[in-house]
Amino acid sequence: MSSDAGLAFLSLPHTSWTRVRTAINWVNLSTPLGLAVARFGGATIVRRGRGTHLATGYRFGFPQASAFTVGSVIISAQDLAWFDDRLILLRHEDRHCTQYAFALGVVMLPLYVLGVAVSYVLAGDHSSYNPFERLAGLADGNYPPPRTRFARRP
Ligand SMILES: [Zn+2]
Repeated sequence: MSSDAGLAFLSLPHTSWTRVRTAINWVNLSTPLGLAVARFGGATIVRRGRGTHLATGYRFGFPQASAFTVGSVIISAQDLAWFDDRLILLRHEDRHCTQYAFALGVVMLPLYVLGVAVSYVLAGDHSSYNPFERLAGLADGNYPPPRTRFARRP
């Protein structure tokens, strides 16, 4: 894997599926919302391949994640260079872009919050039993393997 594999992934051309995904995420308003969130956070937004936008330099500490995705917009407090060797994380975020297309866009946000709540009850963290994070790949998103509160050792 070359050192610029992350950004190379986001430079891939459209496939017919990513064209559909891009259109769906505009129509279901998740991409406009993501762009608004990024702009509100003072991020620099660049268009990338596969219909994605990469918004870097986001200035708020919430949500607590190295990157998060709203619609086809991947948002991060990091700068562009930070993504150079983060192919796996970008693949994870790209899966979230796809989830927005399937989960009716902005409707995904309350569903995601519900997933966070369920995961907190079962595991005490927001990812372990959150179906959206499980489907996007926990390890790829730098999340720990799933575990329950009951199994945890002090
Ligand atoms: Zn994720």
